[in-house]
Amino acid sequence: MATEPGDKIITYASYYDPMLAHLIRTKLEDNDIPCFVADENFLTANPIYNQAAGGIKLKIFERDLERCKEILAEDDALIEQANAEDLSSDAVICPYCGSTDVRYGSATEKKINWVAAVLSMCLAIFPFFANKAWHCFNCGKDFE
Ligand SMILES: [Zn+2]
Repeated sequence: MATEPGDKIITYASYYDPMLAHLIRTKLEDNDIPCFVADENFLTANPIYNQAAGGIKLKIFERDLERCKEILAEDDALIEQANAEDLSSDAVICPYCGSTDVRYGSATEKKINWVAAVLSMCLAIFPFFANKAWHCFNCGKDFE
């Protein structure tokens, strides 16, 4: 893709979900808008740094910004739906302290895997995520 000298590359948006980032990128490319996803390899290799790096950045040329907004406006509902699903998984509340910062032990998300790995390294114990129970990250208790 040839580029004009002086074309400014900007970050259109940041995503924490690689699948979503690629979905958006594919959609823009289908509309002949050049774009690329940055930081993904870094994130995949180092999921623990996701927050620090600010997620996966979708880069576009500044001149395409308005067209990107038009094309992606219809995807806002999709993204909101994805966010709503994330929230619903946090609906479980710890019976000991009332915190919503709980995760189910059998989940396979990378986020949980590295938490389990870090905790098991720190505590030198078998990860308690192996038993299928809810774990509270606020008070540290497990419950069914
Ligand atoms: Zn708790």
